Amino acid sequence: MSRSAPVVFSPEYECDIGPHVFPTQKYRLVRDGLVAAGLLDARDVRCPAAAPREDLLLVHSAEYLDDLEQLRWTPRTRMSELPLTESVVRAYILGAGGTTLAALTALESRFAIHLGGGFHHAFSALASGFCYINDLAVAIRVLQRDGRIRRAAVVDCDLHQGNGTAHVFREDERVFTFSIHQEHLYPVKERGNLDIGLENGAGDEVFNGRLAAALPRVWEHRPDLVLYQAGADPYEDDQLGALRLSIPGLLERDRLVLEGCAGHGIPAVVTLGGGYARRVSDTVRIHQNTCELALRMSAGVGQGRDAGSGALPGPAGEAR
Ligand SMILES: [Zn+2]
Repeated sequence: MSRSAPVVFSPEYECDIGPHVFPTQKYRLVRDGLVAAGLLDARDVRCPAAAPREDLLLVHSAEYLDDLEQLRWTPRTRMSELPLTESVVRAYILGAGGTTLAALTALESRFAIHLGGGFHHAFSALASGFCYINDLAVAIRVLQRDGRIRRAAVVDCDLHQGNGTAHVFREDERVFTFSIHQEHLYPVKERGNLDIGLENGAGDEVFNGRLAAALPRVWEHRPDLVLYQAGADPYEDDQLGALRLSIPGLLERDRLVLEGCAGHGIPAVVTLGGGYARRVSDTVRIHQNTCELALRMSAGVGQGRDAGSGALPGPAGEAR
């Protein structure tokens, strides 16, 4: 257990956004599930500090950060589909600190898990969807600035395209952005280094087949670090999408990405991304499966095909 991947989480990720499709309690529920499964000691969870403004400025404009700080609706913030309150802004700034902390620790420990983050729709000076701060981009820029990494890749397997991330890194040859997503859906697509837009109804076989064929392009980039956006929303019972992945299919997706990173000796950071299943327990189960796989792999246990069957025992719900 002591050699398992570091896990980063803040209780402040759960904040009041009113009646909403985004269950902010999911972060806590995944943490609780991992503890109950005996894979995580609650005392080992690392709590991030808020990302300092100088770190946020590596990605976001000063005017935009001022809007967030002063809770101002402006042309820069009004595309957000979340309330703009102090606790919401704090959750996003903490989230950027969390992905940065996880990325730093992953360099030492091969894997790290952030029970948060993956807010890939945020642009430098524009909120978008449920994203105010692009934690993925901030983490990469901080590690580059500090000389900890030179090259990075983002492997984005969320239902939605990682448009903000693609845009931030559009002119940075050191950062490879890969997104596999539902084509006919929010957002308006940006051009990343590799984009795979899937037709409505695509299921396990199509998704994982296309993913497996694409991942060699990521390895060819020779990244010093992979940030994995493991959105739970390609799930067949998600309320926002029309992809049709099963819970075991999503775990196979995770295995393709994480075993690929391990096989190429590339440190990997798991971030959770989206997840809007009709039943919150399904979203939690999908995220928990991703984290359990990373924890088991990092502990050197169960790296084989039986590391997770999609029906791992746990209190958060049953695989279906
Ligand atoms: Zn999404």
